[in-house]
Amino acid sequence: MLKNIIDIKDVLKKNNIFHLENANLSLYSTIKTGGFAELMIFPENETDIYIVCEIIKNYCPVFYVIGGGSNTLFKDEIVNLPVISFKKGFKYINYNINNKENYCTVKAGAGVLLSRMLNFSIKNNFEGFEFAYGIPGTLGGAVKMNAGSKESNIENIINSLDIITKYGDRLNFKKNQLKFSYRNLEIPDLNEDDYFIVGAEFLLKSSTEGRISEKIDLFKARKMTQPLGKRSLGCIFKNPEGYSAGKIIDEIGYKGLSQGDAAVSEKHANFIINKGNAKSSDILDLINKIKETVLMEKNIELNTEIKIK
Ligand SMILES: Cc1cc2nc3c(=O)[nH]c(=O)nc-3n(C[C@H](O)[C@H](O)[C@H](O)COP(=O)(O)OP(=O)(O)OC[C@H]3O[C@@H](n4cnc5c(N)ncnc54)[C@H](O)[C@@H]3O)c2cc1C
Repeated sequence: MLKNIIDIKDVLKKNNIFHLENANLSLYSTIKTGGFAELMIFPENETDIYIVCEIIKNYCPVFYVIGGGSNTLFKDEIVNLPVISFKKGFKYINYNINNKENYCTVKAGAGVLLSRMLNFSIKNNFEGFEFAYGIPGTLGGAVKMNAGSKESNIENIINSLDIITKYGDRLNFKKNQLKFSYRNLEIPDLNEDDYFIVGAEFLLKSSTEGRISEKIDLFKARKMTQPLGKRSLGCIFKNPEGYSAGKIIDEIGYKGLSQGDAAVSEKHANFIINKGNAKSSDILDLINKIKETVLMEKNIELNTEIKIK
């Protein structure tokens, strides 16, 4: 049971911050599984985040943050920590064109969908976001996960990052102060879950419609090999150095392997799909089975890319 929930709700009501009790987490993860959150909070701007920081300071130092939930698996249990969702706010896109030097800086909020950033770039003839084709989720989640593919990722276009720490400090980091790696971001002196990404600035090159669509075609072709349109979390495992996780899982014969309504996709073995009423425990069972067999048969340790909360 979340301690002081009555006091926390009082603060939220007083400050007009939308929140839900007993929120069904399956609605907030793209694989549509998970339990319930005793309290889900939906800050819409930085003022709301500072109130959330006060709540954290006074009542509950540990919390979850969620963007689009396209890389997050919630366990089936009841979550007695506040879940902070970026679904409702932080949706601004502001840009500045430098015609002389043929580039543009775009500042956008953490709640902007990656697909909207891509559409914005296409409409205004700026290149850099093509890798985002077919990647769901928000900018905040994409920065945290360093989303992308082998050709490009968020790291390549980010200029700077705005965060608010759980202690209520607003900080701006230039790209060279951030440590991006494969599907990961580290911020100096901060633990992984101790801050909120509120916005980021990107540097995009001026381009032409033809060039942008040519680049997008490459990513479109890649996405044809994935079970898009099915309930999933994208790739479950990181690719081990020099290998493809999907290929390894295919080689051990696990394509189509199912547990309850969860199944290893027939189209792409690094995807697990929810065929109907899968539980998170079914997905976790499949993940463990895959890991054990790959270790036994291939002597390779697979690590999950998805966040399990
Ligand atoms: C069909 C499909 C295809 C996909 N294809 C790709 C792909 O090609 N490449 C790729 O890299 N990924 C891919 N993904 C995975 C996923 O879409 C990306 O990782 C995406 O960037 C996650 O964004 P999100 O907002 O949904 O993150 P979430 O799942 O909501 O969160 C991911 C992590 O970021 C943290 N987080 C989110 N928002 C914030 C914030 N504002 N402040 C602080 N922390 C935050 C969360 O706490 C969590 O740790 C795919 C997923 C699906 C379902």
